[in-house]
Amino acid sequence: MTAEATSGMVHTRAPGKINVFLKVGSLIDDGYHDVAIAYQAVSLYEDVRAYPADDFSVSVSGTVELSRVPTDGSNVAIRAARLLARKTGYRGGARLEIEKHVPVTGGMGGGSADAAATLLACDALWGTAMPREDMLDLAAELGADVPFAFTGGTAIGTGRGDQLSPALAKGNFQWVLALSDFGLSTPAVYQELDDHRDRHSQDIFPAQVAPSVDANVLQALRAGDPHMLAECLYNDLQAPALHLEPSLAGVLELGEENGALAGIVSGSGPTVAFLAADLDSALELQIALSAARLTVVRATGPVHGARIIGD
Ligand code: ATP
Repeated sequence: MTAEATSGMVHTRAPGKINVFLKVGSLIDDGYHDVAIAYQAVSLYEDVRAYPADDFSVSVSGTVELSRVPTDGSNVAIRAARLLARKTGYRGGARLEIEKHVPVTGGMGGGSADAAATLLACDALWGTAMPREDMLDLAAELGADVPFAFTGGTAIGTGRGDQLSPALAKGNFQWVLALSDFGLSTPAVYQELDDHRDRHSQDIFPAQVAPSVDANVLQALRAGDPHMLAECLYNDLQAPALHLEPSLAGVLELGEENGALAGIVSGSGPTVAFLAADLDSALELQIALSAARLTVVRATGPVHGARIIGD
């Protein structure tokens, strides 16, 4: 059977993520760091609608602050669509509409979710029927977090974070997310970490071995136990993010005073993710943080990866 292009619109959805564990090793050849990440996809979604068009264009709407999202060819959704067209020899374009619900430059992989949702949408729109393995390779070309936005669920990422292996996970974790009205650039946070390590290179034993995810994290995810997971949330980027944005320390404290089992800066921040024991505690925490005038959303995880939505 040959794949055929659809004449209408294709609607896809991909999730944002929380890194429940992120260890940063040494810099590798291509300028990236060797990392070990435990990813959990959470119920904040990016929706992409792709329409047939001769050229490539993108428009953006949504519930989060959108001023930092480009609408020219630098938007990762356009880069994704162009890459797929180039690899498959498709000669047309696509008009893309993105509906964003993941905070921008928030450390939750919103752009990566847009890229994954766009690959899936354009593949269906154009009938290019790319095998899943090839699609994951394209995803990795677009960014280290894009393959995970594609697969979703719970996974361990090594290498640049793009070499994925699924992790067993049970149940549902309740998260309360404190958003910031500013962004933190991922490269700037890594630079801060590198500068710190350079300054203290005498004291820090060189990280020769590849980083790995703590076995307790895998066990907590497998057991679906938020108390256990709270004990082992870990992020090497938290200290540099706090150094760049000291106000985040107060946010972490506030959440922990108001019933969170634990809080962690999500990825490169500035979003702070609090793990709650159950839905009731999550609701109470949401109310307390909102009363302190923070912008707060709730999410659960794990959820599925990029998929086509039947409208
Ligand atoms: P990550 O957690 O994967 O490091 P992030 O969630 O912190 O990323 P994103 O919101 O994905 O950050 O976007 C990072 C940068 O990418 C922003 O500076 C933004 O200008 C640019 N960008 C390009 N395309 C998009 C897009 N579709 N959505 C959001 N940002 C985009």
